[in-house]
Amino acid sequence: MGQKSVCLNCRKAFNIDTYNLPITEKCPECNGDFILYPHLFQPPRKNDLNAWKVVRFLYNNGFIYYHIRNETNTGTVRYPHTIIEAKEFIEKYKDQAIDISR
Ligand SMILES: [Zn+2]
Repeated sequence: MGQKSVCLNCRKAFNIDTYNLPITEKCPECNGDFILYPHLFQPPRKNDLNAWKVVRFLYNNGFIYYHIRNETNTGTVRYPHTIIEAKEFIEKYKDQAIDISR
């Protein structure tokens, strides 16, 4: 199961084949830092700026498309597709956010 290297600047995702090293940490196009997303992440189309805005907004709040448990802990929740949904999502699941400040 692969992961994806994502450049939020270029709005591009690169599949990482774990058997095909080396993994680069920089985007070849803008030299920005890649963010590693799980295979769960479905990158929006490059010109879908609103969708990428949501991706970046979630990232800034510590959500990188790994599984988020629902309130009853019986399953996982879907990731939001709009900023408004994303705000509710972040508020609701903030205890599951990860620390992205490295
Ligand atoms: Zn880039």
